[in-house]
Amino acid sequence: MLNFDNRFLRELPGETALPNMVRQVSNIVWSSVTPTPVTAPRLLAYSPEVASSLDLDDAAMRSPSMAAALAGNAILPGSVPYATRYGGHQFGNWAGQLGDGRAIYLGEVVNKKGERAGERYELQLKGAGRTPYSRGADGRAVLRSSIREFLCSEAMHHLGIPTTRALSLVETGDRVVRDMFYDGRPAAESGAIICRVAPSFTRFGHFEILAAQGELELLKTLVSFTVDRDFSDLNLADKMPQERLPAWFSEVCIRTAKMVAEWMRVGFVHGVMNTDNMSILGLTIDYGPYGWIDNFDPGWTPNTTDGEGKRYCFGRQPEIARWNLERLASALATIHANGDALSECLDKYDETYSNESARIYAGKFGFTDWHDGDATLIGDVFALMQRAEVDMTEFFRQLAQIDPAYPAVEVLRGAFYVEALFQQHRASFVDWLTRYARRLSQDNRLTAARINSMNQLNPRYVLRNYLAQQAIDRAEQGDASMVTELLDVMRNPYTVQAGREAFSAIRPDWARQKAGCSMLSCSS
Ligand code: AMP
Ligand code: MG
Repeated sequence: MLNFDNRFLRELPGETALPNMVRQVSNIVWSSVTPTPVTAPRLLAYSPEVASSLDLDDAAMRSPSMAAALAGNAILPGSVPYATRYGGHQFGNWAGQLGDGRAIYLGEVVNKKGERAGERYELQLKGAGRTPYSRGADGRAVLRSSIREFLCSEAMHHLGIPTTRALSLVETGDRVVRDMFYDGRPAAESGAIICRVAPSFTRFGHFEILAAQGELELLKTLVSFTVDRDFSDLNLADKMPQERLPAWFSEVCIRTAKMVAEWMRVGFVHGVMNTDNMSILGLTIDYGPYGWIDNFDPGWTPNTTDGEGKRYCFGRQPEIARWNLERLASALATIHANGDALSECLDKYDETYSNESARIYAGKFGFTDWHDGDATLIGDVFALMQRAEVDMTEFFRQLAQIDPAYPAVEVLRGAFYVEALFQQHRASFVDWLTRYARRLSQDNRLTAARINSMNQLNPRYVLRNYLAQQAIDRAEQGDASMVTELLDVMRNPYTVQAGREAFSAIRPDWARQKAGCSMLSCSS
């Protein structure tokens, strides 16, 4: 059984026993709410690692009472469901109150290892019905977006990237209507609910809404609570309030920088980096119209809503994360006398991002450390990769196989989508490989050691958009086995898995313009 200990409810103000009506709220951060039952819940998949971090074994996961609880049809002992209040900047503009419109917390679970080991987790059902923050929407989620979030959060974890996790994927047996392309052709889709798990789901927007509404005492309380519960390892309890805030915000900047640098390492594009989708813990959160880079293109965004502005495209993610931190700094400045101190924290973002990306790119290219000239060498090949439409994941795996003594361009051939572009840019790649081989020779490292270290930073398997879509298509036909298989492949993303070559294949032609594979909307 899950051991609930609900500090958020206990220590922060909220509202209880009110009708579940959409409303603007003030001076509270949560509203109690009951999940709306579904018709015929069926557990399609679960993550064994997340289950075990909650002390749940296979029998517990498969028990009828757990299936009911994970669908919102039953409330577990100790669970007190609620939704929280937050705001956010969406696509660059302040959007006012948003809140958990389709996420319902079940509470906080402390596992057997106990809180001292940092083992406290918030559990959330996503898609379990309307809340006071649903703003006219239905509070439900469709199977396709639930599969995408379930698989990607686990894939990101196994890639070593900070992320919220997913415990379970439940099909509800109900239909949910969505206008997938916002083109006036709504269709009924299968409904689903995932149970998400993270030490904290608190977002930048939780702080922003309190500053925007002038609820400054509550903002101070929420900061203290967050520092105490979610950043206890910083040991800030003894510091004066004026020192605590910048010390904590610096840490938020550092974690955010590390997270984004990791996204850039593996070619992950979040797609909707609004401040309400930024976790205070620096976790990747809210997997919506995210995507993975196939052919290398910094201007690529999977999000059709952002197709014109490309605000959230791959290459702009580091800049946007900083912009989001600036919005958080402005919110925190309302309770801090020295605004300059908060601006200085943002320097930590720049410094950390720059150090992390130097470390990551040196590692991806197989250099023992970062040299001054590396930026030019790397920038040149990125520009070439973009022009020649080279697959990012495949390129780095093949690059590891380059022999510095005889750097043959054919080694890279499998990373090109179009033969004509390979031929057209062949000479430029030959020149670049000559420079690259010269650079490698400066390191004096054994080839085997270089290959090994490159392959630990350059994944063999990423959750390519077309792979997730294939799993979705099958699940919608009633066969969820590919969800489980993909989850299993993504468990060891850096290791070549015999018999699973299909999962590392570059995007097939049919997927190039197919919905779900190359473009997605926020409609989920
Ligand atoms: P997102 O774009 O998913 O980050 O969501 C932005 C805001 O819209 C959040 O406040 C969500 O809770 C809310 N929202 C998105 N989809 C739904 C839905 N189906 N029902 C209720 N609220 C939703
Ligand atoms: Mg969101």
